[in-house]
Amino acid sequence: MADLTHYSGEAIERAGLRRRDEAWIARQLSSDGCRIVPVWRGRSLLTEDAAASLPARGARRLLETSPSEPIFLGIDEFGALFALDLSHLPEAEASNLTPDGEFLELYGVATRLVRREASLLSHAAWLIHWTRRHRFCGACGHATAAREAGHVRACTNADCGMLHFPRTDPAVIVVVEHEDRCLLAQQKGWPGRLHSCLAGFVEPGEAAEEAVVREVGEEAGLTVRDVRFFATQPWPYPCSLMLGFYATAGSGDLRLDDDELAEARWFGRDELRAPDLDIELPRADSIARRLIDRWIARG
Ligand SMILES: [Zn+2]
Repeated sequence: MADLTHYSGEAIERAGLRRRDEAWIARQLSSDGCRIVPVWRGRSLLTEDAAASLPARGARRLLETSPSEPIFLGIDEFGALFALDLSHLPEAEASNLTPDGEFLELYGVATRLVRREASLLSHAAWLIHWTRRHRFCGACGHATAAREAGHVRACTNADCGMLHFPRTDPAVIVVVEHEDRCLLAQQKGWPGRLHSCLAGFVEPGEAAEEAVVREVGEEAGLTVRDVRFFATQPWPYPCSLMLGFYATAGSGDLRLDDDELAEARWFGRDELRAPDLDIELPRADSIARRLIDRWIARG
């Protein structure tokens, strides 16, 4: 587990088997060490470059007035942690919750956070995002209610009763190589000269390896073989699980999907190491960057 990606490696015990124990969850919420990880309109609370939490003891009023239930995240050596949606608060009140804390978009600050803190904030924001989008049953349209400390939404219609579970969308991301060069592309709408490896969502009824072959074929017109799994990364923007791969192209002849890609070309290792590289590589917290850096280091 030493090689975890950013947004994983959370330093808490999720205690998933205790979520159904309502008495235990209630005791955790009222215990001394319990802390709230708040999310306000999609933003996370930070102080300086660290995740911030609120002592639950001092947040009774917030817990009582929030229209959403606290969601149990897990427990560490100090006590339990719960995510709480505070989006109902006016901006002035939200910004005064703690003297030195500020609600910020995780995306803008995540590279400055140590991995376990990025992971905790991502976990909280992810569950709040899912909860906000599953207030109603997708089968019958009735309201849903929290079960299992917020990890399940149950339809309140007695004739339906469907259970809804937190959503994670798998997507493949792949460094394609051919004769000691790798393929990097700029998608339409990306800023500046940002280039990355190819990526796309896994479709229904498809294995991740098949998604790699299909995506590379669709986007770059290449046939790939030898698809090798690398690592995974939870990517909380808003709820993807990135599945990282390497693959080898049978030829170097590109045929780009002009609707998807603005530019794509082959890069050698020396070119990517050069100080005057004319493209920008992906963010340091992304598995894309790790795939590319690992590929460069191999040669
Ligand atoms: Zn229903």
